[in-house]
Amino acid sequence: MPEGPEIRRAADQVEKALLKGTVLDVYFAFDQLKGYESILKGASVKKVDTKGKAMLIRFDNGYTIYSHNQLYGKWYVRNAYNYPKNNRQLRLALHNEKKSALLYSASDIEVLRDEEVPLHPFVAKVGPDLLSEEVTAEQLKERFQSKAFSGKKWTSLLLDQSFIGGIGNYLRSEILFLAGIHPDYRPKDCSEEQLERAAEATITMVTQSYKYNGITNDLELAMKLKEEGKTRREYRHWVFNREAQPCRIDGTEIQKMKAGSRRLYFCPTCQTKLK
Ligand SMILES: [Zn+2]
Repeated sequence: MPEGPEIRRAADQVEKALLKGTVLDVYFAFDQLKGYESILKGASVKKVDTKGKAMLIRFDNGYTIYSHNQLYGKWYVRNAYNYPKNNRQLRLALHNEKKSALLYSASDIEVLRDEEVPLHPFVAKVGPDLLSEEVTAEQLKERFQSKAFSGKKWTSLLLDQSFIGGIGNYLRSEILFLAGIHPDYRPKDCSEEQLERAAEATITMVTQSYKYNGITNDLELAMKLKEEGKTRREYRHWVFNREAQPCRIDGTEIQKMKAGSRRLYFCPTCQTKLK
């Protein structure tokens, strides 16, 4: 499943393609959206925002396309009308003179008036998006300590889109490892120092994954492993997908567990309990 950094990268591509000129042609697969084709045709895209795993394509005529890729949605940006060969179903297409932005397989697509966007149930509930908003480590730490979140386990918080938008399963394992926090912990079990590390680790992992194509491992180490001929799966992460392999810090075997019915990976010696 794509996480925030993947959606932000797709949004960058869509934005780059669509800022180039008026949208000349619009296609929606769903009947209830067909009426918007003529409304959006001839308008220009001002900006493409993300809210966690949702994308907001903002037009200059007061309308915004909301889309959420869920498990299967995938964006393609191609030269105009140059459709990729795949078995997916085209759900939304936006064409200008040079480019086409094509959304396949997604079913969660809506067209909203700009003023309706903040009221949309997902947008209204989703937490801060670290790739679209300025969020400091200090603000995140306060969020960790707030009444709404401090008593819940990190493992469920980090997948809760109302906590922080855009974090998913691989980022969850990687953030907890980098912060040195045991997966059974809640923010209120953590020391001040751990909370600070958790805030820094969250920002570092999300932005690094965005900038470096999903690589959350130490960048120098990842480069070195790549040069040695290791596969992407082998060099990409600190702990995720690395069950029974040696921890990159202390050599302990990485363990795999289930948390919230999703896979979680951790190092039992780097992520110990304090008491
Ligand atoms: Zn370790």
